[in-house]
Amino acid sequence: MGSLRGSSPSRPADRPGVRANPRRGLGASVQLRDVVKIYQTAAGGFTALKGINAEFHPGEFLGIIGKSGAGKSTLVNMITGVDTLTSGEVWVDDTPVHSLNEDELALWRGQHMGVVYQSFELMPTLSLLDNVLLPMDFCGAYNGRQSIDRAKELLAMVGLEEHMHKPPSRISGGQQQRVAIARALANDPPIVVADEPTGNLDSATAEEIFELFEALVRQGKTLVMVTHDRTLAERFSRVLSIVDGEIVQQVRSRRSVKRLAVKDRYGI
Ligand code: ADP
Repeated sequence: MGSLRGSSPSRPADRPGVRANPRRGLGASVQLRDVVKIYQTAAGGFTALKGINAEFHPGEFLGIIGKSGAGKSTLVNMITGVDTLTSGEVWVDDTPVHSLNEDELALWRGQHMGVVYQSFELMPTLSLLDNVLLPMDFCGAYNGRQSIDRAKELLAMVGLEEHMHKPPSRISGGQQQRVAIARALANDPPIVVADEPTGNLDSATAEEIFELFEALVRQGKTLVMVTHDRTLAERFSRVLSIVDGEIVQQVRSRRSVKRLAVKDRYGI
């Protein structure tokens, strides 16, 4: 199986205002400072996040756990820059994500964030290979040959190289999520954010996804996963509990992901 420590980019993307990930392969620190999100609704403003303060670090497998409606997806959208915050700040290392403009944000996100969703969100008309190539095409950090080699390497890492020319509809849900993870890793982002990534999977398949995430954490990436499933708490190195848009509890696990006795099937 392939390794994630592989090809390096031919040229860093160098559009103004956004620096390429200077520490490829490694994670980054995320700081949320008084993050508030107010949605405007017909009934008036609804405060979904009420001043979130949190920090995540490289090599951490952070779980954010809360019931449906607690604000988890909203928080994911703030961390990834998919949606704008009402007030507060989001820093990733020394980048003020909250003050990037739309173009800068799109490029920054492509370089620094790998996002994995519950419903996989693969492009149905593209092959698995082309799905994994998409983020690389967008950011331009790898040339044509390198990006194809890298996409194949990532698909091999998740055990799907032989299926690379199939569309997503021809593989199982668990396999689709593995492709989504390969796509999330395409630009070697320091941070991977997963929103209920195992929510649509049976327990054996969910376990495979966890092992893959744990391998990434051991590699030094920053892994943030949100879930409603409190039984998963022991899998994380730290858990933040979110209730009604507020972090109400923080628990550091005694179990270090680095010391987990999982078989390293992913060559990471
Ligand atoms: P979770 O992911 O924990 O289920 P969400 O972040 O999706 O929670 O939602 C948090 C709260 O914000 C919920 O009460 C939800 O109804 C509300 N909400 C989410 N998105 C919007 C929106 N676009 N407009 C108005 N309210 C929203």
